[in-house]
Amino acid sequence: MLQQTTVQAVLPYFLKFVTRWPDVTALADEDEEEIMKAWAGLGYYSRARNLKKCAERVAREHHGLFPDNEAALKTLPGIGDYTAAAIAAVVFDRHAAVVDGNIERVIARFTRLTTPLPAAKLAIKEHMHTLTPAERPGDFAQAMMDLGATICTPKRPACALCPLRDMCAVSGLDEAELYPVKPPKNTRPVRRGAAFVAVATDGSVLMRRRSEKGLLGA
Ligand code: SF4
Repeated sequence: MLQQTTVQAVLPYFLKFVTRWPDVTALADEDEEEIMKAWAGLGYYSRARNLKKCAERVAREHHGLFPDNEAALKTLPGIGDYTAAAIAAVVFDRHAAVVDGNIERVIARFTRLTTPLPAAKLAIKEHMHTLTPAERPGDFAQAMMDLGATICTPKRPACALCPLRDMCAVSGLDEAELYPVKPPKNTRPVRRGAAFVAVATDGSVLMRRRSEKGLLGA
């Protein structure tokens, strides 16, 4: 739910979901239509479909319990590199390198990484792997995310307050904002479309669900 959506927007939906479907098996057994209705308003509907497919796989193939390692988690619908690492580290205490946008920024500055994103992603993941301690890797990942969100911010990072300042490669250089290095901008493609509204004589409007794939897939 939190992919590209704020905690504030997600909270009422999350509470509604966990009250109505308190475990993975309950969600797996529900009709997809009911889940889509409960999701209405949150957007990016592919997330809801993946949630349902993931619940089905976990219920059917893993006896209702999530697998405890990154490789197995990544085979589940809707779970990519970041989510698999986050679940493995935070829930199962595995030594997994969790990299979100905030951590990307912290590591790029901490190591003064001159490779632009996205080419730098692999190097950032490797650095994060090296930095992640064997003990409490989940707490470390969450601390790094919070550091990026509150101190090592995109603009005007508060280096004076940063617990990493004595080890950070850009600390005191007044150049933190130059990292992560951005790739040269591509010109944006222009897309054109046409929209029609079909209204019957009684005022009712024809509705058609968008296809699941493509721009703004439903
Ligand atoms: S010292 Fe500054 S640039 Fe370096 S990690 Fe901390 S906040 Fe970010």
